[in-house]
Amino acid sequence: MSEAEMSVEKHVFEADVARLLHLMVHSVYSDKNVFLRELISNAADACEKLRYEAIVSPELLAGDTNPSIKLTLDEENNRLIVEDNGIGMSRDELVEALGTIARSGTRAFMERIEAAQGKEGAQLIGQFGVGFYSAFMVADNVDVVSRRAGSDHAWHWSSDGKGSYTVAAADRADAPARGTRITLHLMEDAKTYTSRWTVERIVKDQSGHVPVPISIVEKPG
Ligand code: ADP
Ligand code: MG
Repeated sequence: MSEAEMSVEKHVFEADVARLLHLMVHSVYSDKNVFLRELISNAADACEKLRYEAIVSPELLAGDTNPSIKLTLDEENNRLIVEDNGIGMSRDELVEALGTIARSGTRAFMERIEAAQGKEGAQLIGQFGVGFYSAFMVADNVDVVSRRAGSDHAWHWSSDGKGSYTVAAADRADAPARGTRITLHLMEDAKTYTSRWTVERIVKDQSGHVPVPISIVEKPG
């Protein structure tokens, strides 16, 4: 473990996030596939944000001008990795974006959940864009390593979705040159998301309109 990785900060999720996560994990909602749509849409948003910021700050592109989203299927380790070369997140942005419910869509979802009962609440997952936290419907641990465009520093966010998460400086060697890598450690019953056939089909069904090229690779070895 590097010196950077040793200074790990532990944070507790905002109460609403903890409730949302509990709902995700214990959901009877059957269409878990939506998590991939959410992660791909975030990756595409991040590429779009970079394109926009680069209009005034072209140096942010640093020679890598083609937006891309890469899905890596790691069957051996039961992991699915979603990586983009978009805007990335600073440490503070990670804590804000992945530890609170600052977003209007999720806030509205939580308000509907308050009013709803049990199963009906679970069905609401499909109607709202519930975002990043839906990863915990299929993963029992999620690692996010992100480097904001133009920054020398990368950060590692990690959580089991059970109330808290950690943030630490990431090893340079282990971080994307720019953007965000999200590693889903899949639940036993979510192994299908390392199958090319499954993932290709979901991407085609749900993310056909995404304006950023999506590649799917198998992890070598
Ligand atoms: P929404 O997309 O509706 O804002 P999400 O829960 O999907 O809500 O994502 C929360 C926030 O996390 C995003 O608004 C963004 O700031 C940040 N985020 C998530 N994924 C990425 C990513 N791949 N790159 C950069 N920022 C991201
Ligand atoms: Mg989103």
